[in-house]
Amino acid sequence: MYDVVIVGAGTTGLTAAKFIAEKGYKVLVVDLRSEDDIGNKVCGDAISKEYFGGKIPLSEPPEYAIEGRIVGAKIYSPDEKTVWTVPGEGFMLNRRGFGKWLYSLAREAGAEFSFSTRALGPIVKDGKVKGITVRRGDKVESIESRLVVDASGVVSIIRRALPKSWPVAEELDFKDTAIAYREIRKINYAIEDEEYIRIYVSQEKAPGGYWWLFPYPGKMKVNVGLGVQGGVGHKDPMWYFNKYLANRIGGEVLHAGGGVVPTRRPLDTMVADGFAAAGDAAYQVNPIHGGGIGSGMLGAYLLAKNAVKALEEEPTIENLWQYNVDFMEAYGAKQAALDVFRIFLQSLSDEEINYGMRNKIIKEEDLLKASLEGDLKISSTDKLMRVIKALGKPSLLSKLKTVADYMKEVKELYLNYPKNPSEFDEWRKRVNELFNEYKNVLSKK
Ligand SMILES: Cc1cc2nc3c(=O)[nH]c(=O)nc-3n(C[C@H](O)[C@H](O)[C@H](O)COP(=O)(O)OP(=O)(O)OC[C@H]3O[C@@H](n4cnc5c(N)ncnc54)[C@H](O)[C@@H]3O)c2cc1C
Repeated sequence: MYDVVIVGAGTTGLTAAKFIAEKGYKVLVVDLRSEDDIGNKVCGDAISKEYFGGKIPLSEPPEYAIEGRIVGAKIYSPDEKTVWTVPGEGFMLNRRGFGKWLYSLAREAGAEFSFSTRALGPIVKDGKVKGITVRRGDKVESIESRLVVDASGVVSIIRRALPKSWPVAEELDFKDTAIAYREIRKINYAIEDEEYIRIYVSQEKAPGGYWWLFPYPGKMKVNVGLGVQGGVGHKDPMWYFNKYLANRIGGEVLHAGGGVVPTRRPLDTMVADGFAAAGDAAYQVNPIHGGGIGSGMLGAYLLAKNAVKALEEEPTIENLWQYNVDFMEAYGAKQAALDVFRIFLQSLSDEEINYGMRNKIIKEEDLLKASLEGDLKISSTDKLMRVIKALGKPSLLSKLKTVADYMKEVKELYLNYPKNPSEFDEWRKRVNELFNEYKNVLSKK
């Protein structure tokens, strides 16, 4: 019998394993991949520095886990005539090296691993999760544990198989995803300011998402890809890649692949009796840029902190609840506010985005503040108002004001996350009402 079984040895599962096992609990991590395949994830490979030594008590990754250092992002308007430069230090990761590093930390902490092991589903008895079933080779086995952690990524293999009446089992609406395709290419030309990652907003080239060009500084190598909104009838992202990016970027393809990213607010509740979810499995991803390595690791750390306390008694829903509260405070409230902004961005045309960026209806520093804290400030000088009116775009400004108001309200609601499960239904009802109301108001503007 294990104290904790973690499904998934991605960045989230490995982080949770380290922080739970180091407190002396018996932890098993299962992954369907082989040990050699750790860290082999199709990804943009960019992560902010803020997650190391600040939000999570982890040192910076070792050199073998880093391909280069980033100093900020350049954001391009659809016509590429306006470029905003947003500062922010980070790393281009060596994704395999990063996985290997987290794996070594989890092992040193005492976690056990079972690779080439496919989790099939939860064992639920008397309304509690008691373990999981797995397939190892051609054998199906049961593994019992006091707590099961789903860190299996967007597939959420355990969580989605829990009883549908449990709020934690909530399904992902495909409209709240980005379907992504990316290639790593060797290039034979230099990129100016290669320590900046590039984000290109374009409804034409990446509808409902964006395309990116992330250079690996000093390596003559780029990570280039795009994400399109799922569930609304757009073409496969590879189609856009081949049409708009393949020739433009040139070079030699070193690796290609795709993936799905949840781009919504966090799961309303991430716990049940004997169960918790983190990372992509709990939608702990930034809804605007789809980055989820750091926020998933943060979720894993906060989950571990609370699981360790809960395991002193029993990991009941009540004893695990503080994980919800901590995550909403540390990241979820901002994430939910950014979800409001994401819905707005997806409703804009390229012409409106060109216009808004060119005229700085939002300024770079305000965008930075919005991305760091989830608060949106709009420039509203008389002069700007006059220009906007003269150019016939008053609706854009009025829409933006609505967006900023809802972002504020949503953030406050998440910062007032219920302190115990008995108040949850009421809170959840309010969240759904607020998002429905917002979508309604926005569609009428
Ligand atoms: C194309 C693309 C680009 C991205 N770019 C960035 C970026 O630049 N920066 C950033 O921060 N984020 C980025 N993301 C998002 C980021 O990759 C994820 O948010 C992050 O990897 C989530 O980590 P995780 O550990 O929660 O899930 P995962 O990395 O998906 O790990 C889940 C693990 O569970 C295992 N698993 C799944 N099912 C089972 C099962 N049934 N049994 C056993 N094991 C199972 C898998 O093998 C895997 O090892 C990108 C995503 C995509 C698709």
